Amino acid sequence: MICAQCGASMDQTDKNTFTGRVIREYLCRGCGYTDWEDDGVALWQALEDLQEKHEATAHEPAANAAPSQPDLPQPAQFPPASPWQRLTGFFRRKE
Ligand SMILES: [Zn+2]
Repeated sequence: MICAQCGASMDQTDKNTFTGRVIREYLCRGCGYTDWEDDGVALWQALEDLQEKHEATAHEPAANAAPSQPDLPQPAQFPPASPWQRLTGFFRRKE
C-alpha cells in the first residue's frame, strides 16, 4: 500500500478478521501515517457462511425459490454471539 501523505510504500503492521472480513493495517515508516484496507471476507467467515447456507437448504429446500419468506428459522449459532465468540468457536470446532 502507498502512503496517502508522502507516497512512500507502507509496511503492514496488523491483520485481523474479528469482524468476519480481513482488515489489513499499514504504517508509513517515513511520516508515521497509518491506514487500513478491507481485503474481503475472511476465510473462516466464508466457510461459516457456506455451512449456514448448506444447513439452510438442507432444512428448507424451497428457500432459494422463495427468499423473501418472512419467518425462516435462524441457524442456532447465528447472533447473539459476538465476533470474538464466533472466532473462538470456529477454532474449537476445528479441534
Ligand atoms: Zn508517509
